[in-house]
Amino acid sequence: SAQSAAAQRRPRSARVNTLKMSVAEALSWLRTPKEKQPAKLAQLGKQVSADELLPDVLLFPAATDLHDHPLVKSSCLILQSKASCMPAHALAPEPGWDVLDACAAPGNKTTHLAALMQGEGSVLAFDKDPRRLQCLKANAAATGAHCIRARVADFLQLPLATSPEFRNVKGALVDPSCSGSGTTLSRMDFLLPSHAAQLSLGPASGRTAESKSAGSGMQQSRAAEESNDTPGCAEQQANLGSVNLAEHEGHISREEREVLGSAEAPGDETAHRAESGEHDGEHLAGRGDSGKRSEVDRVERLARFQEAAVRHALTLPALQRLVYSTCSVHERENEAVVAAVLPYTRELGFELVDPFPRWHRRGLAGSVEGAEKLVRTHAVEDGTDGFFLAVFQRGPESSEP
Ligand code: SAM
Repeated sequence: SAQSAAAQRRPRSARVNTLKMSVAEALSWLRTPKEKQPAKLAQLGKQVSADELLPDVLLFPAATDLHDHPLVKSSCLILQSKASCMPAHALAPEPGWDVLDACAAPGNKTTHLAALMQGEGSVLAFDKDPRRLQCLKANAAATGAHCIRARVADFLQLPLATSPEFRNVKGALVDPSCSGSGTTLSRMDFLLPSHAAQLSLGPASGRTAESKSAGSGMQQSRAAEESNDTPGCAEQQANLGSVNLAEHEGHISREEREVLGSAEAPGDETAHRAESGEHDGEHLAGRGDSGKRSEVDRVERLARFQEAAVRHALTLPALQRLVYSTCSVHERENEAVVAAVLPYTRELGFELVDPFPRWHRRGLAGSVEGAEKLVRTHAVEDGTDGFFLAVFQRGPESSEP
């Protein structure tokens, strides 16, 4: 069917936790036949390949179920989308650095930063949601990321400019609450391909390179496993951060609802929580007509928070490199946030730099000066979640990490 054909296009990705195992060791483990190994596992060894862009990302055939895989259970492999692995690489922290992760839970990118730093230095991780932070801590322990120092805090209230704690922070990741539209779309493989094509372009329609429509791209099993945004955290679950808590707790946007035929919209409580910067994980069930706020308002409130978070991170006195990322397809949360902070970043001596010169999909043409240095991924066409990232660097432009 068209649906399974589309699913075939999207490989399953996993990140090698290089704190526990090198990529070569992981590939060798996967490719070496073992006694009494189930046929399915043996088969995986023949199917796995290394991602061309991100050196620690492995690709498996679409719909591969890796949850019970020994390497996943031992946190040597982290189930994480390729797009979600881009921000840590874009930040490219060096071993020994102090790095700050502003909105960190459940911590997939935090543990990735720790791995790229080979466990040396400090990753200061903050999240205002205590339950999500607990997951981050469990995730850090399971992955052996002992250089992570995590605590509950409202990032916007942290004294970044004055406290000695932050004096040496050279890298900052700002991956704040967002509408999640890029993730929601990529997980909606139960949509008809025509619907997905209609939705996935969102406001970006026609403006990014190669933004032709295509069918939806995922299998329902994956949608079920990865869209689980239950905030609880079962200690015994291996790899919990990467699977059991959505990183970007996606909303279903108004356009998506229209296609899905849902009448509900987030109500006042949702709007308030988004406004106050809480994670954006409410669902549509049970919301009445009263107090509805439009999707546009909600995205606007999120964008203001996102902008405030970037501006605040820029007050770190020793900051050299800042990555801003979302899993939203909305220009307002992406290029428009960059455009809003750009004059301020320039005053401070930062410039936009391109973290992945070989990547093909860029910021929306004409949206902001330097759009060609921004990175977008398309939820259907790039075989991963819909994502956005921008890198600001102080000093000379760096090459690809
Ligand atoms: N970076 C995470 C990862 O890769 O696993 C995903 C982060 S998620 C998109 C956004 C997070 O921001 C949520 O966990 C939410 O609780 C947190 N958050 C929202 N507002 C915040 C604030 N003012 N201060 C700190 N954390 C905040």
